[in-house]
Amino acid sequence: MAVSLQQTKDAYDVIVVGSGLGGLTTANRLARSGHSVLLLEHHHRLGGLATWFTRKTHIFDVSLHGFPYGMVKTCKKYWNREIMNSIVQLRDIVFDNPQFSLRTTFDKEDFISILNEKFEVGMGQIERFFSRIDKMNFYDDQSMSTRELFEEFFPGRTDVHRLLMEPITYANGSTLDDPAITYGIVFSNFMNRGVFTFEGGTDQLIKLMAAELEKNGVTICTRARVDRIVTKNKKTIGVEVNGAFKKAGAVVSNSGITNTIFQLSDPGQYSEEFLAKASKIRVNNSSCQVYIGIQEGEHIDHIGDLLFTSLSPEFDSAELLDINTRSKTFSVYYPKTRPGLERYTIVASMNSNYDDWAALEEQDYRSTKQHMIDRTIVDLERYLPAVKTKIDWLEAATPLTFSRYTLHTKGTSFGTKFEGLDVSRTIFKEVNGLFHVGSVGIIMSGWLGAINYGVIVANDVDGYLRSL
Ligand SMILES: Cc1cc2nc3c(=O)[nH]c(=O)nc-3n(C[C@H](O)[C@H](O)[C@H](O)COP(=O)(O)OP(=O)(O)OC[C@H]3O[C@@H](n4cnc5c(N)ncnc54)[C@H](O)[C@@H]3O)c2cc1C
Repeated sequence: MAVSLQQTKDAYDVIVVGSGLGGLTTANRLARSGHSVLLLEHHHRLGGLATWFTRKTHIFDVSLHGFPYGMVKTCKKYWNREIMNSIVQLRDIVFDNPQFSLRTTFDKEDFISILNEKFEVGMGQIERFFSRIDKMNFYDDQSMSTRELFEEFFPGRTDVHRLLMEPITYANGSTLDDPAITYGIVFSNFMNRGVFTFEGGTDQLIKLMAAELEKNGVTICTRARVDRIVTKNKKTIGVEVNGAFKKAGAVVSNSGITNTIFQLSDPGQYSEEFLAKASKIRVNNSSCQVYIGIQEGEHIDHIGDLLFTSLSPEFDSAELLDINTRSKTFSVYYPKTRPGLERYTIVASMNSNYDDWAALEEQDYRSTKQHMIDRTIVDLERYLPAVKTKIDWLEAATPLTFSRYTLHTKGTSFGTKFEGLDVSRTIFKEVNGLFHVGSVGIIMSGWLGAINYGVIVANDVDGYLRSL
């Protein structure tokens, strides 16, 4: 149960700013290690981008499209068995675009046969490609781009590039020009066993996580926006939140890394070299979504769990980001998502640029949003003819919506490009007791990346606190 700020103590061992999956995991690990932890979240609910909302009788999941199998082990080890037991596979992943249409379980075995039988790539080449990406790790050479990787193994095969890249672009915003290791690590994670989801929905996951936090003694305070991380002589001493000062031996910011450095803390505390690095961080793209509610009592056919659809002739990162993109994913939530509730919702997701939407005047913003909703329904009717007659709720989110709810720079959906990771990992060397957790460097994003990063940062903070 969240408490009001007035009910919290004046001082804690650690304050965690933000309750995304990274912040939640760090808070939980530190409390389990015996530290007193105050978790401050500006929104009225926990979860950050791992969130949901209700309209009429619908529950819409925002970022529950799929994650790799690694979540099973991670949740068992760092959360609990109940959370782990709700992770189930999505078996029907659909691709439909002018270059190919296919269904897959999105695992290595199926991809090998698709590449060989449908795309007619030789087995030797396919095996060499998988062997290369399986061996990729964080310490590898970062100068090779994903484009170069694909050209080395599948020269000129834009259809193969699309099959391999399009889902990952939706999963973490990476493009063909990002370092190949960021692609290889994330793609291998999915190829391990396929795409998984959380049975019961995001609301159930966050409810179980909140119960675990409480069990471990974390003090949770929502509607608590941290205005400033207070530092003195290059050391963190606490935070200012809703006009009050709360003291802490360490502060972990789950706010974006750029927000943390340039808005929440005093840039004067950092070295010039660090600030120069931080100012070069590029944030990833944001998203648009259209939420589609199917009227109670209505049924829709099974058309796949996750559909990657496009009318664009070839894969093109810029086209995927265009305000009028013809590419989108449909996540279809059948009654199996929340057993017991005979309900269907569909969420269409598109990658998007914050600046395109921020530049629109109020009137244009509204009409562009409506146009996006209309286009989405036309696209959906290619798979579910006349579905329009069954819809009783339609709503859209744009990068401005994501920015408002998470406070992230330019509403970034997947944190930062690769350079953000080093800055996030070294912030504590600049200001004693200040740590950052949250989506950075492409690799440390998504549900699995954010939770795993939460564990890494909790270990750092634990070591620091014990050294005091
Ligand atoms: C549309 C969309 C679809 C996605 N789909 C998937 C998917 O299918 N699978 C997947 O694995 N990942 C997906 N992701 C990505 C995934 O949701 C995120 O990478 C992950 O949840 C981010 O966790 P985080 O720890 O970085 O924190 P975030 O979720 O970014 O949360 C940060 C939190 O900090 C809070 N905060 C910020 N500043 C302050 C402050 N000053 N004071 C108090 N609180 C503050 C914010 O309110 C927020 O709650 C998707 C993301 C989007 C946007």
